[in-house]
Amino acid sequence: MSSEKVIRSEEEWREALTPEQFQILRKHGTEPAFTGKYWNLKEDGTYACAGCGQELFSSGTKYDSRSGWPSFWEAIDKSRIVTRDDGSYGMRRTEVLCARCGGHLGHLFDDGPEPTGQRYCINSASLEFRGKG
Ligand code: FE
Repeated sequence: MSSEKVIRSEEEWREALTPEQFQILRKHGTEPAFTGKYWNLKEDGTYACAGCGQELFSSGTKYDSRSGWPSFWEAIDKSRIVTRDDGSYGMRRTEVLCARCGGHLGHLFDDGPEPTGQRYCINSASLEFRGKG
């Protein structure tokens, strides 16, 4: 897996992604809670970026946050994600993006379980699950 940046025009992304993926990854959208394909998935495997395929999260750090979105207490490697302040909707949150393609993944909160105390609250639509089997 190359760590080279993936840069595409808006039109190229629109063609490469489903409308839902485009809205979330490229337009910073959010899928409704409990509607995504991964919030309740418990299989062993890896969650990659749906935009560029970079592996971002492991099932070993996934937990049930009861939020309705896939939640992880740690990323596979901090260098694979980027965080930034997000003041939209009158909230102060930390946005989580893919470091390789800039795709919006979700938000990071500090109410997660030990050992990190962090909660990566990620849209299913931003992820592509790769099972171990
Ligand atoms: Fe990506």
